[in-house]
Amino acid sequence: MKWEQRNSCPVCDSSRTHNYRKGSFDPERIGPDHFRITDSHYGQMWNFHKCRDCSFVFSNPTLNEQDLAKFYRDLEDPEYSLESEGRSRNFRTILKRLNRIDKPGNHLLDIGAASGIFLNLAQKQGYRITGIEPSRFLVNQAREQYGIELFQGVVETFSSLEKFSVITLVDILEHLAEPDPFMTRLEGLIQKDGILVIVTPDINSLAVKLMGKRWWHFRIAHLNFFNRKSLKVLLANHGFDIIKFHRYAWHFSIFYLLTRFFPGLKQKKPLQKLLKKVHLKLQLFDSWEIYARKN
Ligand SMILES: [Zn+2]
Repeated sequence: MKWEQRNSCPVCDSSRTHNYRKGSFDPERIGPDHFRITDSHYGQMWNFHKCRDCSFVFSNPTLNEQDLAKFYRDLEDPEYSLESEGRSRNFRTILKRLNRIDKPGNHLLDIGAASGIFLNLAQKQGYRITGIEPSRFLVNQAREQYGIELFQGVVETFSSLEKFSVITLVDILEHLAEPDPFMTRLEGLIQKDGILVIVTPDINSLAVKLMGKRWWHFRIAHLNFFNRKSLKVLLANHGFDIIKFHRYAWHFSIFYLLTRFFPGLKQKKPLQKLLKKVHLKLQLFDSWEIYARKN
């Protein structure tokens, strides 16, 4: 694998950066499995640096984009859909908030659409939908489960004649090696006055201070972390005005939570049925949900 060494901040280009956290795994040993949405190798983190100017936290060295794209293309994540009810609850909240500032019937682009759970809900609410997803496995799942045809690939290989009125990035930004050129691509895909929705972990949250390296967002797939300040810088640099910051609440079934710690439970079918029925809403105040408008 090839590593990219950084000498400046990938968000604001400042060279005033410092060591933030020491890496805790051997990057030569990673593979597609570590990039699953349901990966439970928690506590494994990259060697992180932090920018003194915009406070962005980024892996250094980081994976090059080609290897990263290959991992996402090849990953298989059969467990993702097991938790579709919990995920649907998260997504309904987003659609409800979106409806207050945008009209369904518009054209929505979801980037990193996974198995299409969010797009299926958006379509039911009257949106015209388009989705981009790198994993071949998840693209097939979206087709089989919802009859949704996603574009298999990444933003860099996607093009559209029409610009979108809404673009959603739910748990995407923290997975990117290069958030700045990614945002430049989005500028070409969104209409003037279009709405951008972002959900991403908050590295400044109390959860990080309390849990330290055990914070559940420290995992190999997360190559970087934002906080309120660095998100503002990124969005302003690309012509977006922030409308609203919300704290993102997670919905999980008890089944999902328990299997994070006791993977053996996945074999116990009768128990699964029962535990999946019980849902928890967790407000950990450790993710941002942001609505911004293209100016
Ligand atoms: Zn910076």
